[in-house]
Amino acid sequence: MAGELYIVATPIGNLEDITLRAIRTLKEVDIIAAEDTRQTLKLLNHLEISKPLISYHRHNEEIKTKELINKLLEGKNIALVSDAGTPVISDPGGEIVKEAIKEEIKIIPIPGPCALITALIASGMDAKEFTFIGFLPQNKKNRKEKLEQIKNAENTLILYEAPHKLLQTLEELKSIIDKRKVVLARELTKIHEEFKMGTIEELQKDIINPKGEYVIIIEKNEKTRRQIKLENLNNLTIEEHYKYYEEIGLDKKEIIKKVAKDRNLNKNEVYKKFLKQ
Ligand code: SAM
Repeated sequence: MAGELYIVATPIGNLEDITLRAIRTLKEVDIIAAEDTRQTLKLLNHLEISKPLISYHRHNEEIKTKELINKLLEGKNIALVSDAGTPVISDPGGEIVKEAIKEEIKIIPIPGPCALITALIASGMDAKEFTFIGFLPQNKKNRKEKLEQIKNAENTLILYEAPHKLLQTLEELKSIIDKRKVVLARELTKIHEEFKMGTIEELQKDIINPKGEYVIIIEKNEKTRRQIKLENLNNLTIEEHYKYYEEIGLDKKEIIKKVAKDRNLNKNEVYKKFLKQ
């Protein structure tokens, strides 16, 4: 019979945050697959658990997935942990979960600490609906697209960022989120845990030399979808604006009416401009 795959969350700072179930699971499995075996060894030593460890990180995920799936099919029970928090969430683990599903291996999540949820619940931001962005892409084009998504998003947004990139990311966000409030949640569950709220400009004045780990939470956009669309259209030239409606299939009369309304112009003015087209 195949073994079971346990996806085990571990503390993001405070070791007391490990759950009883996580401890029992780590004690009972045959193997622990860890993002950084040295890091996990510290946790296991603290818990007085001794287990065979296999490294499973971003750079060997594909090869190790096969190896671990074989071990699971041989009947071994395996726990997957990352350096801190919940595996799979901006951490390795997604591949083995997908493969295990294909092989009909039972997957058992062991929930626990996760930086995004820990930050959100104490941030005061609207938590009814939120989007987790994770780390912004490094690739220029993908990053630009993601920033565009952030600009137009209506709900609370959550990002992860490394301390040495925080100031640059705040600078990039400044131009697109306007005066929306931001919460910086730092060193969660640790001695120097702190939450700072303000506009990006205010936070930039406050944070000169970022240290520790950060979660960035951006206030939901109070503007309606229609207001955002209108702003985007009005940032186009009048010709581009016309073309936008043309491409969605409106006829000339309708387009002129709409462009005039969007831009708060007189219909005749717009009509004259496009008369010859
Ligand atoms: N899987 C983890 C989780 O469940 O949150 C996240 C791993 S990701 C590689 C690491 C990022 O999570 C950090 O760069 C930071 O943005 C955030 N993070 C992790 N621990 C944190 C903490 N104690 N305080 C603030 N942010 C933290």
